[in-house]
Amino acid sequence: MSKEQYPGLYIHVPFCRSKCFYCDFYSVASSASVPEWLDCVRKEALLYKESFPRFDSLYLGGGTPSSLSTRDLADLLEHIRTHFRFSPGAEMTMEANPDSICEDKLKAVGELGINRISLGVQSLDDRDLEYLGRNHRRSAALAAIETVRSLGLALSADLIYGLETQSLPGWKKTVDGILAYRPEHISCYQLSFEEATPLWKMKAQGRVRPIDEKLERAFFIWTSRHLESRGYLHYEISNFARSPETVCRHNLKYWKHVPYLGLGPSAHSFGTPRRWWNVRSVTKYCRLILEGKAPVEGSEVLSEEQLGLESLSLGLRTSEGVDLAAAGTSTESRSALENLKKSGLIRVEGDKIRPTLKGFLVADSLPLMLQP
Ligand code: SF4
Repeated sequence: MSKEQYPGLYIHVPFCRSKCFYCDFYSVASSASVPEWLDCVRKEALLYKESFPRFDSLYLGGGTPSSLSTRDLADLLEHIRTHFRFSPGAEMTMEANPDSICEDKLKAVGELGINRISLGVQSLDDRDLEYLGRNHRRSAALAAIETVRSLGLALSADLIYGLETQSLPGWKKTVDGILAYRPEHISCYQLSFEEATPLWKMKAQGRVRPIDEKLERAFFIWTSRHLESRGYLHYEISNFARSPETVCRHNLKYWKHVPYLGLGPSAHSFGTPRRWWNVRSVTKYCRLILEGKAPVEGSEVLSEEQLGLESLSLGLRTSEGVDLAAAGTSTESRSALENLKKSGLIRVEGDKIRPTLKGFLVADSLPLMLQP
């Protein structure tokens, strides 16, 4: 069995020092319930010892995993490593924020197997960081990157573009500032105004506004071309890897329907053909676990057709694309494929359909255009 085919383990750490204005991930800006959560996530893990005995990736996400104390992180990682097997060379990522990591904490998690840090840099311009409601500033981000680098851990830098406060030259400075450290991986997300976030409310009040679509496209295209010119692979709409070996193996599982187990409030899990997800409240999550119940809020069983459609839409978000056969063989499907090729949105290579850069810009609509 190839490495990629073992499931991935995701653990949701739902604590942040404060809430960033744009964020709609589930987290609370208080650490009061950390002890109870830690006890419950350990208990929840044991529910899956038989069905998920082995993984080849671990992803501590959130929330802000690095906001946990070194002792709590060690406690969690030791528990997981005691009860589950990880393949040799497993990718083990911890998300971290510049304001909550230090050398001692990173050294400790490194000794427990974490080999990759996904750092929430977002921007190297203090005006952008203020606009986003981030706690850290440029100097803290640079210091954090240097700490990660000095310990020899793989670095993935998260960046956000498309802010009102950000000009294209300003964004270039951020990207080049990050490239100076040659991270193994860079994620560049376009700012979105998610419902019920503070930023969404500020937009409704007319205090902030999205940039226009033409400029958004210019940011996206410049980013892709610039990073590719520096040797990075644009392997998913928002993700770039320094080499084929440094793509995020854990996230690839989500895009390829490889099974994954999610622990913690709001975490999602998948094991063909079923998907299930946990309650989005740390209080409710702990209550259910302490009552001896699974903290699952809902589940669905995907039909063959749904799995096929999902594979198509997830695959067309990646440079690997989808099998030509996924487009269908009817006359209508063949003609839709030809039209998309003529419009420069996809290219056909061997038995694969791959999105072009222009196709990435409309990736959400490509499956519909392909299956009229
Ligand atoms: S963006 Fe990250 S640090 Fe900010 S609130 Fe969301 S999960 Fe927490």
